[in-house]
Amino acid sequence: VNDTKTALVTGANKGIGFAISEGLSRLGFKVVIGARDEERGNTAAAQLRERGLDAVAVVLDVTDADSVSAAAEKLDRLDVLVNNAGIGGRTSSGAQNPTTLDHDVLQTVLDTNVFGVIRVTNAFVPLLRRSPAPRIVNVSSNMGSLALQTGPQMAAYAPSKTMLNSITAQYARELADTGIIVNACCPGYVATDFTGHQSARTPEEGAAVAIRLATLPDDGPRGGFFDDNGIVPW
Ligand code: NDP
Repeated sequence: VNDTKTALVTGANKGIGFAISEGLSRLGFKVVIGARDEERGNTAAAQLRERGLDAVAVVLDVTDADSVSAAAEKLDRLDVLVNNAGIGGRTSSGAQNPTTLDHDVLQTVLDTNVFGVIRVTNAFVPLLRRSPAPRIVNVSSNMGSLALQTGPQMAAYAPSKTMLNSITAQYARELADTGIIVNACCPGYVATDFTGHQSARTPEEGAAVAIRLATLPDDGPRGGFFDDNGIVPW
């Protein structure tokens, strides 16, 4: 019997996902680093093991249904799923305006940030149902908030996160009668490759809210969108 709580983090080979993985493993979870590239995943897991932590890697490309189901077959236990993998879909011109947006960019961003989350979540819900305290955390962004309308124009990325917040609420509603607690979070503006490291905020600081939602008590909130300061209007 595998009695160590297990957490899977997608897009965990670097950035915020890596920091979430490290944080959860420091709390005693066995962490599974989901990475679309096998070598990058193995390197990240080895880094955590060198720090004395319990980590393995699994190949998981959230845009590839076969990759997702193969990853699900490799796990025999799951307590926490963090849907962190995400892309901005930056274009060569930098601008992402709706009138000039390349459909391929829109499609790839939605396939990763929205369909990817649905693919992964649906593949792992059967395992999560067997956990004593299952939690799902979707890493979103306040750029998806229609209430805040914040950040630069990102006509593919921002709506993808708006939809992610909406499907988070949909999952929470469907799973309301189960132990599976589903929430979304905004990590804040964090120094990663995604932002070109244009921030003083560290991945560890960005990871904190996801770690908190991943370890909520059984009576914790469901279907919400949170940052370090609490509920974010969306
Ligand atoms: P990074 O670009 O540093 O890391 C993104 C991770 O996602 C990488 O591991 C990348 O893998 C992975 N990834 C991309 N596409 C796929 C895919 N198809 N399948 C599996 N993994 C994939 O970004 P951040 O760490 O900054 O971002 C993590 C999350 O946080 C994203 O969802 C982002 O939208 C969100 N976020 C980030 C903010 C910030 O300020 N940084 C602000 C608000 C939200 P690979 O190395 O192979 O490319």
